[in-house]
Amino acid sequence: MFEIKKWLRSDIVNLDSYIVPSSHNLIKLDAMESPYPIPTHLERSLNEKLLATPINRYPNANADETKKQCRLLMDIPENYDILLGNGSDELIQLLSFACGKNDILMSFEPSFVMYEMIAKWTQLQYLSVALTNDFEINLAKTLTIIEEKQPKIIFIAYPNNPTGNLFNRQSIEKIIQKSKGLVVLDEAYYAYAKDSFINDIAKYDNLVLLRTISKVGFAGLRLGLLIAKPEIITQFNKLRMPYNINNLTQTSVNFLLNQDYVQTQIKKTLSQRAWVFNALKNINALVVFESQANFILFKTTKANDLFAYLKENGVLIKNLNALIKNHLRVTIGTERENKIFIDLVTKFYD
Ligand SMILES: *Cc1c(COP(=O)(O)O)cnc(C)c1O
Repeated sequence: MFEIKKWLRSDIVNLDSYIVPSSHNLIKLDAMESPYPIPTHLERSLNEKLLATPINRYPNANADETKKQCRLLMDIPENYDILLGNGSDELIQLLSFACGKNDILMSFEPSFVMYEMIAKWTQLQYLSVALTNDFEINLAKTLTIIEEKQPKIIFIAYPNNPTGNLFNRQSIEKIIQKSKGLVVLDEAYYAYAKDSFINDIAKYDNLVLLRTISKVGFAGLRLGLLIAKPEIITQFNKLRMPYNINNLTQTSVNFLLNQDYVQTQIKKTLSQRAWVFNALKNINALVVFESQANFILFKTTKANDLFAYLKENGVLIKNLNALIKNHLRVTIGTERENKIFIDLVTKFYD
């Protein structure tokens, strides 16, 4: 008799699925999405364009117009090439596919969970270096580990998720110089940060960048970018699924990405981030961390209780207690949503 668990690789049998909690009827401040829908004055044109998109045909395989719109939105220099992925998650997976048996993927702890998950799926070794108490890179330790273990890829989220900070720039430069493998700067939150490594790609042969449109209004379209020198993109492009960017995504991105509202909404989120930060700081029971992203990390005395209280009252945030004890993460929502959130936290501690 066929038994799936006997047939499967044993490490897969023991894996847990990535769980997305239900957000039905809740104010959703858990996943770094933009809280703003498409403005009504653009809805009709978008509908027309989507209806005129031939879904019986395979998509444009190179998605040239989509790349061009990304280049414009993110100010990507002409001398770099772009590889598009079905979300940057797919690109992390693609980078892992390029590695061989016994290769090591390295990152930091706490950081983005997909690096480790994808390393496991692709049967690579995963190694993480603990961040310091203020969520900074421990440079001496990191350089020693790079020397000893020679990681094939080092993933650095800049700004980091879930902590929201930009690591020290000089530390990252030292890591890039020390590493004989590829260094991947994951700039998912580039739009909310005051620094980027985009101009450093020209300087370092082993540096590539990841970006995404998920955090600036388009999480539902699933589009991520690998940005690198042309000779690097040429090689990784061999591992890309043909037609990985679907027709409806290409049509939507081509029409929407450079509309004025995208920048307006980013600015709103930045000003709301300042408002939420100050409001949380005013609550004595909390330690609030400065953020260069569209979310804020804070430490509480009773993370589980506060998280549950918020949920009972209609607000879903992220409980990080299992990862960083007593810490919660809130995504910046609309003005109204943020006010509801802050009122509830204030009431909880009254
Ligand atoms: C959200 C996030 C991503 C995932 O982006 P997608 O394009 O939606 O797959 C990648 N890296 C970091 C650090 C993130 O926080």
